[in-house]
Amino acid sequence: MRHSRLEFISVVAGFRPGVRRMTGTTRWVTDRCKSMERSRADLHIHTTASDGALSPTQVVEEAANIGLAAIAISDHDTVDGIDEAMAAAGVGNVEVIPAVEINTDLGPSEVHILGYFVDWRSERLRGHLLELRRARLERGKKMVGKLQTLGVPVTFERVLEIAGRGSVGRPHVAQAIVEVSSVQSIGEAFARFLVRGAPAYVERTKLTPFEAVAIVVASGGVACLAHPGKSGRDHIIPMLVKSGLRAIEVYHSDQYPESSQRYHAVARKLGLIETGGSDAHGFDPDYGTSIGSTTVDMRVVEDLRRAAAVG
Ligand SMILES: [Zn+2]
Ligand SMILES: [Zn+2]
Repeated sequence: MRHSRLEFISVVAGFRPGVRRMTGTTRWVTDRCKSMERSRADLHIHTTASDGALSPTQVVEEAANIGLAAIAISDHDTVDGIDEAMAAAGVGNVEVIPAVEINTDLGPSEVHILGYFVDWRSERLRGHLLELRRARLERGKKMVGKLQTLGVPVTFERVLEIAGRGSVGRPHVAQAIVEVSSVQSIGEAFARFLVRGAPAYVERTKLTPFEAVAIVVASGGVACLAHPGKSGRDHIIPMLVKSGLRAIEVYHSDQYPESSQRYHAVARKLGLIETGGSDAHGFDPDYGTSIGSTTVDMRVVEDLRRAAAVG
């Protein structure tokens, strides 16, 4: 269901959609929207092209509704939502920044690299991203094959259903195992079948953050370290800078103010552009924060544009 932002807040507040009572919260949002004066940008938004709940058009409409000047469409490992968002942008008068968020692995943790102003039409970029998505599907298929050999009757179709719009991973396979076997929990499914060394484990094709930075740079984009507080891999930041990183996501909806202060200092020290965004996946509270909940000044967009132009 599509809600306007005010309706959505009413839902969160326990009111029925469409019943627009002016609560303190709704008044605050209305005032905040007016005061934005189209000078703010949300540089981290997902759409249905990856695991978001809103189509690219709906995302642009929402950005226009709340008065944003620019948004970055930054789906996981795909640029497929950008053309639609660009087409909608003219109507809403919102600038759409072509972007991508590439998921990479470093040891046991994931590191996400954002790419801004990438050449989203580039066959090379699309080829890289397609390969990443294909590798994830292949891994899921192989795990299902191993489980079937072990007598666990999971199907790949069911795993895909569970994954929905998200990219297939071990948690989805684990849930499928719980559904069709005597295994009681996701944790047990992991322990018995899916951890490294267990009988249905399949090694994943790993992409390093350095490789992701190289992919972004090769497609004319500005590479940015996403939500560094979440990945907790600060020691690699100087090395990433050496390999072409030009920006860091200092402001993120899931990052404490103290972390933002820390990464603000890191950015100053290393000469990085300080970006920020909501990482919104839609309106539904299950999808986390909403569009525009974390924004940066349009000057940041100009800095990124300049950096992309210089190459
Ligand atoms: Zn991320
Ligand atoms: Zn994200």
